[in-house]
Amino acid sequence: MNLIKVKGIVIKEISFKENDKIITLLTDNLGKISCIARGAKKTNSMLLACSQFLVYSEFVLFKGKSFYYINSATIIDTFYNLRIDFDKLQIAFELSKLVISVTDENVDTSTCLKLFLNTMFVIQNEIKNLKLVVATFKIKLFSILGFRPMINSCSSCSKNFSEIEDKYIYYDFVSNVFICDSCSSKFDKNRLIKIKKSTLIAIKYVIYSDIKKVFSFELKDISDFSVFGQVYAETMLNGI
Ligand SMILES: [Zn+2]
Repeated sequence: MNLIKVKGIVIKEISFKENDKIITLLTDNLGKISCIARGAKKTNSMLLACSQFLVYSEFVLFKGKSFYYINSATIIDTFYNLRIDFDKLQIAFELSKLVISVTDENVDTSTCLKLFLNTMFVIQNEIKNLKLVVATFKIKLFSILGFRPMINSCSSCSKNFSEIEDKYIYYDFVSNVFICDSCSSKFDKNRLIKIKKSTLIAIKYVIYSDIKKVFSFELKDISDFSVFGQVYAETMLNGI
């Protein structure tokens, strides 16, 4: 029996048979995997704690025909204070669902895991406005997955945004590009989102920053940042 060591966080748990659970893990080197935690529902099980939603552990696994099986686990972080707060838990569910839909087994999810862990930490400790955290997570997630929008210049006239005085820039979600104010009149308004220049700078920061520092920016008015995060993620998700 080959034992495999992996770090992973539980992003879904479902009850299986009388005493078992099937958990979905976002791991550092196996991608997103499904594991059977045998006996995890028993109160005296050593897998009881590590098989709960959002618990991050180092697992020792072995591979069966269709599933991995947990041999043992050492808990690294339980995110307990997040899990006991209903509103924060709802956000964690939403973001986990998103991660489940864009990841797979045997792909490199190490960056995605880092982002997810960092985001859970920020949510748990209320370091930032939660709407801002959700939008930042979505923007960074799809950037990591390779869907970075062209953000430095207008896709229509090629003018660099740092050299123009426009107060507003437009995001064209159909083509995943940005358009300057003067070119925007040539486009169907229904495919454009109006974005403040300060918001554009924040979006650019999130796209290019190191994951550890992805939340280290200030934005006074987050309304269009939040809308952008939602529309961008939804559009990219439909395209996958
Ligand atoms: Zn233009």
